[in-house]
Amino acid sequence: MNAIARDGTILCCDAGGVPFDEALARVLALAAGPLPPETVALAAAPGRTLATDIRAWLDMPRFDASAMDGYAVRTGDLMPGARLAIVGRTAAGEPPGTLAFGGAHRILTGAPLPAGADAVIAQENVACDGATIGIAAAPLPGANIRRRGEDIAGGQALIAAGTRLDWRHVAVLAGQGFPAVPVRRRPRVALLSTGRELREAGGRLSPGEIHDSNLPMLAALFAGWDAEVRTRPAVADDAAAISAALAEMAANVDLIVTTAGISVGDEDHVRDALSGLGGNLAVVKVAMKPGKPLAAGWLGDCRFIGLPGNPLAALAGAVAFVRPVLGRLSGSAMAEPLRARASFAMAHRPGRTEFVPVRVGQHEACVWVDRIGPDGSGRLSPLLRASGFACVPEWHGDVRWGEMLDVATFANVTDNSDG
Ligand code: AMP
Ligand code: MG
Repeated sequence: MNAIARDGTILCCDAGGVPFDEALARVLALAAGPLPPETVALAAAPGRTLATDIRAWLDMPRFDASAMDGYAVRTGDLMPGARLAIVGRTAAGEPPGTLAFGGAHRILTGAPLPAGADAVIAQENVACDGATIGIAAAPLPGANIRRRGEDIAGGQALIAAGTRLDWRHVAVLAGQGFPAVPVRRRPRVALLSTGRELREAGGRLSPGEIHDSNLPMLAALFAGWDAEVRTRPAVADDAAAISAALAEMAANVDLIVTTAGISVGDEDHVRDALSGLGGNLAVVKVAMKPGKPLAAGWLGDCRFIGLPGNPLAALAGAVAFVRPVLGRLSGSAMAEPLRARASFAMAHRPGRTEFVPVRVGQHEACVWVDRIGPDGSGRLSPLLRASGFACVPEWHGDVRWGEMLDVATFANVTDNSDG
């Protein structure tokens, strides 16, 4: 089956699948622009993508303030050996006072500097008798003062649109007094597992059946990529049942992701189900390993990505295609791949892009990737040790030890243990 673009163009695909870069371009074209913005309370902002550039509302600090518990003074008043009378007091939260001529003004950390003062002497550096202080060494003007706007100046650019917000942004935005922020609507993704052998965890397995691991894996993965994930029970390998599930899901989501049944075997019905509903596929097979049977296109106004059934192949398809589409929909920039040295050699024939499970680690100030085996797209155990896929491009020959590779990371495992 050739792929048909949305405009009806027949896209030829050779038996080995379209080159990976071409497939990615076609899949990215499914998400032309970001979803509309919405406003969320600051507490709900982590994980969301900022919809507009944010500028600072306020100078921070808001006012010249003391950085220490001590005494505010005017350096011009200080005479060697003289004692200064303590003539006022300001604590944090109080309005600024005025420094009386020739006096020392008791001040606490975070309090506004009294008018007329130009330095703060730390309390550890004075001899205080309760009414006066003696100063051993005069401070320089500006000592122990946090100047208004020295951290953030009102009006300055703070956070760029497209930034994935986290607790750091929450701290700055809260400090600036933003109660809420404009973010992109979360992409709504429906997940469907297909295969008559699949049972949910918790159920009893009859002979020949297996637990569905793809759906929980992808649901967790997509939620971590800021998607609002909807799931439904797996459907058997039956075109009518798959059609019914696809039609129901397409009405409510931005993207449908299926796993398995996407090739052309006797029990692969997803593509037929999709074409039966009038769907268009822009990709039906990709020159990649693992994961050659991978389809993407439209079902009405809903995007569709059909991933392979083998767990590592489904993951490779999700990392390579679903993540960039979700990024586009939420308006975030595509993450640059990590560059790391291969701690392995590997045979690779040009002709298809290969995604090799690896663990990123650091040895002697250099980022390396260890290959995580054994090979096999049906395996789950490599996931426990892998933190990304090293990408061996289609044109590439054998991978040599020490060579630099692009790595698409999918977990925060960066350690040196042999685990
Ligand atoms: P298929 O793409 O339908 O040929 O499936 C390829 C392999 O992946 C088969 O061994 C399936 O049993 C397995 N598989 C398919 N779907 C899942 C799933 N949701 N969870 C775990 N394994 C699956
Ligand atoms: Mg199957």
